[in-house]
Formats: sequence, structure tokens, C-alpha cells
Amino acid sequence: MALLQIAEPGQSSAPHEHRVAIGIDLGTTHSLVATVRSGQAKVLQDEHGRVLLPSIVHYAKEQNAYGEEAKPFVTRDPKNTIVSVKRFMGRSKADIKFQHPYELVGADNEMPAFQTNAGPKTPVEISADILKQLKLRAEDSIQQPITGAVITVPAYFDEAQRQATRDAAQLAGLNVLRLLNEPTAAAVAYGLDQETNLSTDRNYVIYDLGGGTFDVSILRFSQGVFEVLATGGHTALGGDDLDRLIVKWAKKQLNLDELDDAEHAHFMVTARKAKEQLSEQAQVQLHLLDQVITLNRPTFESIIQVALERTITVCKRVLRDAKLELSDIQNVVLVGGSTRSYAVQNVVAEVFQQEPLCTINPDEVVAIGAAITANQLVGNSQDGSLLLDVTPLSLGLETMGGLVERLISRNTAIPVARRQEFTTYQDGQSAMLIHVVQGERDLVEHCRSLGRFVLRGIPPMTAGQARIEVTFQVDADGLLAVSARETTSGVEAHIDIKPSYGLSDTDMERLLLEGFQHAEEDKQLRHLQETKVEAQRELEALTQALKTDANLLNDTQLSELQQAQQKLADQLQGQDLQAIEQAVNQLKVHSDAFAALRMNRHIDHALKGTKLDDWSNSTSE
Ligand code: ADP
Ligand code: MG
Repeated sequence: MALLQIAEPGQSSAPHEHRVAIGIDLGTTHSLVATVRSGQAKVLQDEHGRVLLPSIVHYAKEQNAYGEEAKPFVTRDPKNTIVSVKRFMGRSKADIKFQHPYELVGADNEMPAFQTNAGPKTPVEISADILKQLKLRAEDSIQQPITGAVITVPAYFDEAQRQATRDAAQLAGLNVLRLLNEPTAAAVAYGLDQETNLSTDRNYVIYDLGGGTFDVSILRFSQGVFEVLATGGHTALGGDDLDRLIVKWAKKQLNLDELDDAEHAHFMVTARKAKEQLSEQAQVQLHLLDQVITLNRPTFESIIQVALERTITVCKRVLRDAKLELSDIQNVVLVGGSTRSYAVQNVVAEVFQQEPLCTINPDEVVAIGAAITANQLVGNSQDGSLLLDVTPLSLGLETMGGLVERLISRNTAIPVARRQEFTTYQDGQSAMLIHVVQGERDLVEHCRSLGRFVLRGIPPMTAGQARIEVTFQVDADGLLAVSARETTSGVEAHIDIKPSYGLSDTDMERLLLEGFQHAEEDKQLRHLQETKVEAQRELEALTQALKTDANLLNDTQLSELQQAQQKLADQLQGQDLQAIEQAVNQLKVHSDAFAALRMNRHIDHALKGTKLDDWSNSTSE
């Protein structure tokens, strides 16, 4: 495969030198760090023996608190205690539409900052503070300089979110070897990239049910290469929802309608504890408002069925996206704390008709895989496979009529480069606007604009003659570069798209869903737009022709032609495809006759020209 080699910064090393690299799972609720020691990947503990660092920072005038120490401030001082900062990464202020208790400052289209007692803090700075804690932990525990880090990100993270993560790591003083997709890291942790039988492709499902999010990815391992075939998920579906379902059930058992805030908080904590205990024992007792109720595994399973079914629907959609059948899936990997529940394991086993892999602690599996990859990248291991990622949404550009021409479709493995030729719309057109968009719909207005640039200096030519090559290139980190080149003159222009803000998860889900829902409607709209563009082009050509050759027509012919022209121009103002097609056909009757007359005149000219000029030239000599 031609794509196999990618040079990593700092990868080449002397054979006997052992470099230490770390893997970091920078999670929404928890973060952790791991490294490979004596050939074994291990998660690293803090001085209290804790592995999971809650992704929480409390900012204060005097001394900030991190992780477990910051936790008590979540209720005591919510405005200055930032939780789930990952949801804010790579977003502009205007993109942040979910609820949160914070005061954000900054312009709408910029990265916002949280107003805290320690001053304004951007999501990148806050993530950097979390990463610094993990870096300190790693330095204490390894006692050797750290060469670099692999940091995991969700597979659906867009360019802006990846860039923000990279920036945070740099700010924390980490040398980023690579950003790695979380599902890919999980697969690596289970050694699924160590498959030696190269003749068969293997497909894996990574099912990640965390605290507040659900992600499912399908990976293909083929000829030593990992590739993410498809991803899907829910941005608001996780362990917290299971807790809520238990609370709802408990209220019903106790005949309660309303709970006050304190009671609700108590119910949620109790429900969570009960849920976690059910992973160890067959039944638990819930002590709620001086009453005791018993919850057993089968009841729990039926209570949370509604949430589990939503995850299954997503799994099925992703399988379809990847064009795979159940029998094509070799393994299912469980990731995320919530997959410790037997109910979750059971439903996954049932749906995929096989026992999922869950022997590695599901909280730690991503960090473990990141550590193994980091170790490979600094050259301590010979078996480095190339890990490919995918584009989360289709990428394309705007063509006439506000239509999208897709160059790279979603779920394409990256790095990837695609080239397509475009041409000019008008005679003598000397510039072209390249408008880059992201999304699944056919009309530009329904997609997200990523950026635009102008290619200037196109030599004057008749419409449709210029050849403009547009190249889309997505690198291994998911950053997009678009270039345009006119082939005869070689003039070029390009744009690197690293927007300072990204798409919110909900926006992305919306764009995807709309793409599915509106497929038929889009097809018709596209047909309408294409017909209109073509008709407009004919009208313009006709106007040009009339300027020089109108005298070929008698008065009746001319007025009939002009009437048909006007009729079409009128119809083009509307959206009635049939009426437009009819007007085109009517105009054609007249314009074809006109074209025939023009053709004759041109042939006459040409013949006369040959005779007169050539003869006179040769005879005069
Ligand atoms: P995230 O990836 O979103 O940061 P985690 O992967 O850490 O989240 O998962 C947190 C969720 O896992 C919480 O809802 C928590 O209640 C749940 N969880 C943790 N331990 C268990 C357990 N033993 N059984 C069931 N659920 C658990
Ligand atoms: Mg997670």
C-alpha cells in the first residue's frame, strides 16, 4: 500500500537508547496517563494511589485545585470550578448552545474564556492545566525525561477540536507525538493490531459508554493497517442517564411525584452507587427517605432497556455506514465505565452475537492503548502499524447554483487527497471563488462553511475552457488544506483550514441526520438547481449571439425568440422545475433555428475567407 509510511517527529532513534513516552486519555469526566515499562503498559497513580483524575479544575485567587481536590468545589463554587471542559474545546462562543453554569467572555466567533477568580481561562488553558497534572504525575513516577505523548481524542472530533487539544498539550509542555482516536487506542490495547494473518481483513466494533456520552466506532485492520470505517454516537447518553432511569423507577416504587433539589441529588448519588454495586453483586438495597427498596439485576436491566436500545440503534446505523454484516465483525471491545454493568455487556453480546472483550479495565483501556502507541512512535518497538482515522463529515466545495460538489465523503480514511477539475462559468472569467464546505446535504446553505479563497489570474478564455484543478488534502491529524490551480497558466491559490472554532456535537449530529432525512428532497433540489444553472447559461450565450447575429432573423423570428427568452428568464425566478423545463424546450425551438442560421453564416464566412484571402495572397505574390 502506497500510504504506509508516515514520518513521525522525533521518531528515529539510536537502537539502544530507550525513550520514555506516555499515553494520555483526556476525558470529559476523567483523565489518566499510562506508559510502557519493561514491555508492559501500565496506568500511573498519583501519590495517593489514584489512577483516575477527575477532569475538574477549581480556579481561586490564591491556590487552584485539581481533580479529586477540586471536586468539592463543584457544588460549593460552581462558577469557578470547571467540569467537562472537553465539551468546550475547539468551539466558538456562538457554538456553545448546551447548558452550563459558567460566565463566558469573548466575541461570538472566537474561542471563549471562562470568567474565574484567577482571571479569564480558555478551554485550551484549562485542558493544559489538567494535562500538566498528568505530566507531573508521570515525571514523578518515571523519574526520566518524557520524550513525548500520545493524546487521545474522540473519533468524531473535527479539525478545530483536534487543534485545540494539540494547543493545550503544547501549553502544558508536552511534545505531542500524535493525536490518536479513542477507539483505535482501545483496539491497540487489546493487541488487535498484532494480528499476524495478513491475508484476511478483520473488523472490530468499539462500544464506548461513558458517564455522559456514547460513541461507537467500527475499525478495520487490513494488511497491517488500522482504519476507522465509521463512527456514530450520542452526545447526551451515558451512565448519568442510567442513574436517572433508576431514580425514576425508585420514585414510582415510593409513590413520589416531586423531589426537591437536595432530595434529587441524594437520589442520583444513591442510584449511581446502586448501579455500580450491581456490577459486583446480584442485588442491592437503596436507602431513600427512610425507606428501603431492593433492586436486582433483571429489574435494573429492564429499567435501562430504553437507554440501551438507543445505543443499539446507533450500532446498527454505524454497521450500515460501514457496509458490514454482523458476521463480518471479529471482535467487540467495551470501553467506558458504564460497560462494567452486566446489563450493558448482555445487550452488546446479544446484539453482536458474541462475547465482547472486557478484560482490560474499561476506564483504562484507552490510556493503555495510547501508551502502547506512544512507545511505538518513539521507536521502542518494531511493530508500529499505521493508524488511520476518518473524516467525520463530507468535505466539498460550492459550485454554480449553490450546489455542493463533494470531494471527500464522510468516513473516508485519512490521510487522504482528492483532486477534481472544475471550469469557468462565464467568458473571460479571470477569478474563481473556492468555497469549502462540510456536511451531508446537497445545497451549500444546509452545510457548514469552513472557509473560502479566490483563485485569481485565470487567463481570459471562453466559458468552460479553463481547467482548474482543486485538491483537497486531509493530513494524519485531520487538518484540511485546499488548493486550486489553473493548468494552462499554472496560477495557484490555497487555504489551510484550521478554524479557531469547530462544530458542536449536536450540530454535527444534526448535519448527519438531515443528510439522511433529506436525501430525496436534496436530489430534487439538486436537479432543479442544475436545470436552472444550465438554462441561465443558455440564456447568456443567446444574448451574446444576438449581439452579433440578430440581423439574421426577420422581425417575427426575433420577437418570438425574445419572447421565449423572456418567458424562460421569468420562470427562472421561480422554483417550478416543470415550468422551467417547458420554457427551455419552447426557447429551444427558436434558438435551434437561430443557431442553424448562424452556423450557415459562419461557414459562408469561413469559405469566403479561404477563397478570397488565400487566393489573393497567393496570386499577389
Ligand atoms: P467518560 O468517558 O465520560 O469520562 P467514564 O468512562 O469514566 O466516563 O465512565 C463514567 C461512568 O461509568 C459513570 O456513569 C459511572 O457511574 C459508570 N461506572 C463506573 N464504575 C461502574 C461500575 N462498576 N458499574 C457500572 N457503571 C460504572
Ligand atoms: Mg471515556
